[in-house]
Amino acid sequence: MRIKTIKIKLGQLTSKKRKLLETEIENFNRNLRGEKAPLYSATLQHTTRYYKKNRIKKNKPYPLSLRNDVFKLLKTKNKRYKYFFKIPIYGVRGGILAPLHVTGYHTPIMCNSDSFGDSKITKQGKDFFLHLTCRKKKNKSTIHKNSIPISVDLGERNPAVSVTLHHTLMNPIFHGGKTLRKIRAHHRRLRTALGKKKLLKKIKQIAQKEQRAVNAVLHKISKDLVTHAQNLKKTGKRPVILLGDLKHIRKAAQKKGRKMRRIINQWPFYRLQQFITYKAISAGIPVALIGERNTSKTCHRCKCKGTRKKGLFKCKNCGLEYNADINGAINIGHRFLDYMFKNRATMTPLQSGAVKIVCTTPQPSKIQPCGYPSL
Ligand SMILES: [Zn+2]
Repeated sequence: MRIKTIKIKLGQLTSKKRKLLETEIENFNRNLRGEKAPLYSATLQHTTRYYKKNRIKKNKPYPLSLRNDVFKLLKTKNKRYKYFFKIPIYGVRGGILAPLHVTGYHTPIMCNSDSFGDSKITKQGKDFFLHLTCRKKKNKSTIHKNSIPISVDLGERNPAVSVTLHHTLMNPIFHGGKTLRKIRAHHRRLRTALGKKKLLKKIKQIAQKEQRAVNAVLHKISKDLVTHAQNLKKTGKRPVILLGDLKHIRKAAQKKGRKMRRIINQWPFYRLQQFITYKAISAGIPVALIGERNTSKTCHRCKCKGTRKKGLFKCKNCGLEYNADINGAINIGHRFLDYMFKNRATMTPLQSGAVKIVCTTPQPSKIQPCGYPSL
């Protein structure tokens, strides 16, 4: 189930409706604070259901919470407002109808949703806003033998590198670039400077700012990646996005030096994977997690062990010199094809909608000896 909440501005209300809605919100808040005020029964139920009485802050205004079966969304032929929203109000039979400012961004989310969840109405200044929870069933997307793997290697040097393995084509794409590194370095410098001046409140503020800046980059990376997969899907192919199983990444970092540890432990790998997963699943593109053990140390051409230094991979056997992240991504793709073609894959669906692919025969713990046939 995919859930998305959209914030829709309510259109102009008549003074009578306005007053009714204001009173309802006011009474909702009074009930939260423990006073008794007349309120629509189902809404009254929500005052105890969603908010714990001992956690209510006295001066904070809370949004009016509506149960999903008591409100209604109506489509009308009105020229100015295409949609109206029916809000239940205490003592008003049938509630009140409020027009909605539904924008081009809202329309597809609203119209394509299968059902609505409990929603809220807030008042900001003079305007009212409806926070509508839209629920949509997940698209079914399956992984086939002839799926084209788009394997993604997440790293510190290049946030995400994707490789599309299709026949002999590879088509590596670098997503993101340097910006993330710059954002982090900049804020780290700021933090040290502020720490010396003991401005702790300011440090907290810039932490939130950094989070937003980083998230923006992560959203862009994941969107680009999913768009790439969608373009492939439009040509009639079946793409599948492969992500590395991150379980061991922090463990592996322990062996590295202090600076490298800090970089790896703070890098939002998991968040980026989540963004990629939910965007891909809602676009109908399957996502698979695959163990990435040794993928960065193995040569993709001869499957031998190599070394990785400053973003460059060098093979000890065949002398291949290659971008380390691309090499890793190709190996993840090869591993997927290997599992699929030899029918060795066990797929476990995860809650996020992704599928975890594990090899049914025990995976060799050491790197293959030379001469192992490459795919
Ligand atoms: Zn090699």
